[in-house]
Amino acid sequence: MRLLIIGPPGGGKGTQSKFLIEYFKIPQISTGDILRDNIKNQTPLGEEAKKFMNKGELVPDSLIMNMIKKRLNTDDCNNGYILDGFPRTIPQAQGLDKLLKDMKQKLNHVIVMDVPDNLIIERLSNRRSCKSCGQLYNLLFDAPSVINKCDKCNGELYQRTDDNPDTIQQRLLVYHDQTKPVINHYETQKITKFINSTGTIEGIKEDIINNIIN
Ligand code: AMP
Repeated sequence: MRLLIIGPPGGGKGTQSKFLIEYFKIPQISTGDILRDNIKNQTPLGEEAKKFMNKGELVPDSLIMNMIKKRLNTDDCNNGYILDGFPRTIPQAQGLDKLLKDMKQKLNHVIVMDVPDNLIIERLSNRRSCKSCGQLYNLLFDAPSVINKCDKCNGELYQRTDDNPDTIQQRLLVYHDQTKPVINHYETQKITKFINSTGTIEGIKEDIINNIIN
């Protein structure tokens, strides 16, 4: 199963991907996570990416395409994968089309998470992640049992540096301007499923499964 999950920042892509990994036994490929790992490990890619990410801007397409090419060619992708946060621009979508053609692969579904902007700001300001295992929480509707501690591994929770109001606004502008056109790109391939992502995590999960299986 090869899936692509697309939507605004805070649209629930990460949360639903974690569930899809287990359901389909395929890896999640989050370009944001790979970039954050590079920043943490102070690699040259991380140092370059940080300049853009801290401002809520997109990392240049050429860097992202190199990163994805390497990742899709690793063995754990043989049975499929979930692309999360990629492609985010038309050149990236075209680059992916070419890459898939070269690899003789096709995407099965493109899942579009539909959420209004006012909900995004509220969600992102309350988002927390575990430093150790990456588990996501939301202080409004999916809070940890103990403040700042992960329920799964007891790791410390943190707020992403780009989840502050100014950077969120910029990321939303970038989404509308550069990423939304990518949805039209896939609509011509007739594999796009729109998911209303304003409900509960469980309700959205069910909706995704119903759309993918039926
Ligand atoms: P995310 O974790 O998906 O919200 O991504 C966090 C940040 O990483 C974004 O705001 C961008 O600066 C950068 N980023 C992640 N994926 C991409 C991508 N496909 N293209 C360009 N920049 C990206």
